[in-house]
Amino acid sequence: HAKANGRDAMVEYFPELDVALNRRREIEATMREALVNKRFETVFQPITNPKDNSVIGFEALLRLTSESGEQIPPTEFIPIAEETGLIHELGLQTLRNAIKTALNWPSHVFLSVNMSPRQFDRDDLIEKISAILTELNFPAHRLELEVTESLLMENELRVSEHLADLRHLGISIAMDDFGTGYSSLGYLWKYEFNKLKIDKVFLEGYDFDGERYREIIETIVVLGHKMGMQVTIEGVEDERHTDMLQSLGCDQYQGFLFGKPMAAVETLDVPWGHAKTA
Ligand code: C2E
Ligand code: MG
Ligand code: MG
Ligand code: MG
Repeated sequence: HAKANGRDAMVEYFPELDVALNRRREIEATMREALVNKRFETVFQPITNPKDNSVIGFEALLRLTSESGEQIPPTEFIPIAEETGLIHELGLQTLRNAIKTALNWPSHVFLSVNMSPRQFDRDDLIEKISAILTELNFPAHRLELEVTESLLMENELRVSEHLADLRHLGISIAMDDFGTGYSSLGYLWKYEFNKLKIDKVFLEGYDFDGERYREIIETIVVLGHKMGMQVTIEGVEDERHTDMLQSLGCDQYQGFLFGKPMAAVETLDVPWGHAKTA
C-alpha cells in the first residue's frame, strides 16, 4: 500500500489521472477521425465598427463535436492538438475552410484566424499559407493572423523572422488576448503588430469594479494607438459596455452583443458596412 510521502508515493494510484488520460486519448482519437472526415466545423464571430455597428471582419473559431454528440471546447482540444502535432494539419485545414467562407463576403471585410505557437515550429508554414492564398485567390491584405504572447517567448529569433515574412506577404498580425499571461511592452515594440486585441477579462473586470477597469482599458487603448496599432476589444456583451467604451476610441468591437460565433451560411446575413473610400 502506497504511503503519502517518500518514494512509495510515486507509485500511488490516482484514479483521477487515469480519467484525465482516457479523456485525452478519446479527444485525440476524435480529432484524428474528424480531420479525416472533415468534421471540424469553423464558426465565425463578427467584428464591428463602433461608429455604425457594421460588420468589418470575422474571427474564425473551431468547433468539434464527438461522435456521441458532445461539444468539445477548443480550450480543451487545442492543447491536445498541440501536444500531438495534429495542430499543423488542423491549422492549415481551418485556414483553408475559413477562406472559402470569406470568399463570399464583400471585398472590404477581413478574416482573422488564430495561430497556435506550435505551428511556427515548421519552417514551411509561410510557404503553405502563401500557397493556400494563391490557390484560393484570396488577397493577403484581407487575412489577419492572431497570435498570443506565449508564442513570442518560445523562440524569439525564429518567430520574429516568421512574423516578418507573413507581414511581407501583406498579412496582418494581431496580438490576441492582450493583458493576460506575460504581457510585455518589449514584445509589442519588437514585433510590430498591426493590431492589439484586449482580452475579455477586462470587460469582465469592469462588471464588478467599473472605475478601475475603465482606466486600465483606456490606458491599453492609448498604448496601442501610440504604438501605431489598431485596437479591438473582446467580450462586449451589453450596452453598459458600449456606453463606457464610447469615449475610449477603440477601433473595433467583438462580443456577444454583436453576435455569437455563427455558422458559415449565417455570415451572409449580417449588416455589412460600406467599403472605406480612400
Ligand atoms: P480567442 O481567440 O480569444 O477567441 C475568443 C473567445 O471568446 C471565443 O471562445 C469566443 O466565443 C469568446 N467570446 C467572444 N465574445 C464573447 C463575449 O462577449 N463573452 C464571452 N464570455 N465570450 C466571448 P471559443 O470559441 O470558445 O475559443 C476559445 C479559444 O480557443 C480562442 O480564444 C482561441 O485561443 C482558441 N481557438 C479557437 N479556435 C481556434 C483555432 O482555429 N486555432 C487555434 N490555434 N486556437 C483556436
Ligand atoms: Mg483569437
Ligand atoms: Mg482573443
Ligand atoms: Mg481570449
